[in-house]
Amino acid sequence: MAEGDTIFRLAAELRPQLVGHVVRTAWTTKNAGVGRLAGTTVTSVATRGKNLLTRFSSGLTLRTHLGMNGTWRTYPANPAGKRLDARVVLILELDDVIAACFDAPVVELFDTRSEAIHPVLRRLGPDLLDDAFEPSAALGRLRDPAFAETTIAEAILDQRVMAGVGNVYRSEILFIERVDPFAAVGDLDDPTLERVVVTAQRLLVANVRPGHARRRSTTGGVQAAAGQDLWVYGLAGRPCRRCGTAIRVASLGRELPRSVWWCPRCQAGQAS
Ligand SMILES: [Zn+2]
Repeated sequence: MAEGDTIFRLAAELRPQLVGHVVRTAWTTKNAGVGRLAGTTVTSVATRGKNLLTRFSSGLTLRTHLGMNGTWRTYPANPAGKRLDARVVLILELDDVIAACFDAPVVELFDTRSEAIHPVLRRLGPDLLDDAFEPSAALGRLRDPAFAETTIAEAILDQRVMAGVGNVYRSEILFIERVDPFAAVGDLDDPTLERVVVTAQRLLVANVRPGHARRRSTTGGVQAAAGQDLWVYGLAGRPCRRCGTAIRVASLGRELPRSVWWCPRCQAGQAS
């Protein structure tokens, strides 16, 4: 699943292949008008949370968001007669590489000058993978009265609080910090919220460190054995590796229900 670390690594992989190269053709299944990119040069590949921003010499920015299942792949140019995969939603054909985006729910093109007022980008919280990330800024956003009654599991997935946490990390962060996922933000004290934020940053940063295994790990970095990369995510019914209690899973969220995994003993709270 594409979370902030996935997009950060993806940008690092795409950057040397795209930046400085001219787009020959661009094509998308979305209504994004990417044909305008033909003849322009890629000037940068950047990330904002889970958004990938590819910028062009003509003053345009291409935003892709991979959602739950999206990905990018690159291929050597000119694969003669290559058939398009039905999952491809965007293709950028450059001098000597083809960059294809699969299954992304969001492909849009807009003026780079408008990035600061973009309706999604301008609302993003501080980016966990930004060198300038300050936990206090995310803590301040969590303390917004609008979040007081929101469960902590939903709040830390909200990209307005901090950008980069996805469904895998939210369960792992709350397990590590022994926080009940169903606790209301308003019922948690500042030190607890700060530990949650700091752990979110620590986990994402650890997973984009050069040389880190490609497999995401929250349990021990590169040393984690296969199958023990995660504490609770996707492990419903398995014994908690701290206390042996069976890990539970539940659906959370009104508009877009997503599963959350937790240990009812290690993360004991009013709802467990
Ligand atoms: Zn436990």
